Amino acid sequence: MTEDELKALVRAVPDFPKPGIMFRDITTLIGNGPGLAAAVRLLADRAEAAGADLIAGIEARGFIFGAAVASRLGLGCVPVRKPGKLPVPVLAIDYALEYGTDTLEVDPDAVGDGRKVVLIDDLIATGGTAHAAAQLLRRAGGVVETALFAIDLPDLGGADKLRADGVAVDALMRFAGD
Ligand code: AMP
Repeated sequence: MTEDELKALVRAVPDFPKPGIMFRDITTLIGNGPGLAAAVRLLADRAEAAGADLIAGIEARGFIFGAAVASRLGLGCVPVRKPGKLPVPVLAIDYALEYGTDTLEVDPDAVGDGRKVVLIDDLIATGGTAHAAAQLLRRAGGVVETALFAIDLPDLGGADKLRADGVAVDALMRFAGD
């Protein structure tokens, strides 16, 4: 499936979750069997080429792709969670949003020293979320050199932010604008 064919399966919803945002909705992509299969296969090929030992998915839509990719490669999957969801003491990181801050948490025993973790999420915009997740996984002992996304919004600079911190970024689709 080509990038344009995949892009045609992503629904654009204007003014969600607030005015001025064009929400790139993967509900329609994952609801399409060939589309989901192609996206998972393409992400898995890239994760395998990056030498992944472990896949990390960012809550919540990153879990959908992350778990499918991990399963396809026979690897484990680490959930990078929103606060208060894990039932054990956590490693946590706060990161800046446009207004205020948010937090991500991970099980400190979920990674293991020196394991190569490939980070997966549905979409990278400003890169704040993925950058925080990469730092958190590094604190947990992981080697984080690759992040993969279904969608990149390159005009928002997120991929460049990750690259500046030594993380190679790849995405299946790019949409101009925000
Ligand atoms: P950011 O931290 O700015 O890179 O935002 C990334 C996170 O927010 C991802 O987990 C996306 O699911 C979500 N997100 C941000 N912008 C959009 C958008 N325009 N459409 C859909 N999801 C978005």
